Amino acid sequence: MTIQKTDQQWREQLTPEQYRVARQAGTERPFSGEHYRHNKPGDYHCLCCGTLLFHSDAKFDAGCGWPSFYAEAAGANIRRITDTSHGMVRVEVRCSHCDAHLGHVFPDGPEPTGERYCINSVCMTFKEGGKV
Ligand SMILES: [Zn+2]
Repeated sequence: MTIQKTDQQWREQLTPEQYRVARQAGTERPFSGEHYRHNKPGDYHCLCCGTLLFHSDAKFDAGCGWPSFYAEAAGANIRRITDTSHGMVRVEVRCSHCDAHLGHVFPDGPEPTGERYCINSVCMTFKEGGKV
């Protein structure tokens, strides 16, 4: 982790909803996020620290209500941890720079990776353009 802030600093930087999802591993309501039906070309960055996470060319509609990607962007810094909350074993994905919760990755995505990153809109900011 390269960015470390106190709880108080995160609370000042983020809205209550952003704080709840990104810093407390919450989940936004499905079909509610601003990036769910968002198809512009560009890059998705970590809300908390701005690091690159995903590029729009790996985004697809999984019908699950959250933005879905089949791969992280080249050079993205995403780490995986086993999440056993809610009586399930899932793989949680976090920003490795600031440890923000992003969402989960599931083994049921499309080719070429076969993975589905199910990510909360509220944890990302979008920058139009970037690599095409
Ligand atoms: Zn981050």
